[in-house]
Amino acid sequence: MIFIHCPHCGDRNEDEFTYGGDVEHRRPDKPDAMSDAQWCEYIYCVPNTKGWAKEHWWHVRGCNRWILVERNSINNELRKPDEDSGSE
Ligand SMILES: [Zn+2]
Repeated sequence: MIFIHCPHCGDRNEDEFTYGGDVEHRRPDKPDAMSDAQWCEYIYCVPNTKGWAKEHWWHVRGCNRWILVERNSINNELRKPDEDSGSE
């Protein structure tokens, strides 16, 4: 069980949240200018970082806001995204 800290609601169980993806995986600015292959790569080749990654989470069963979380994918440790991420 993971407790995610929502800056608006405090520590909450992860089942109140929906994962929104890696922060680095941004929607292209001009999707109409992309080829089908480029679009498929954007849709299906999502980051799967081993270690620390900044992620969007939607507090869907709470304040209904998107928050930024930094999570270690190896052990699900969480920390505030503004902390020093070190060299990992
Ligand atoms: Zn919240």
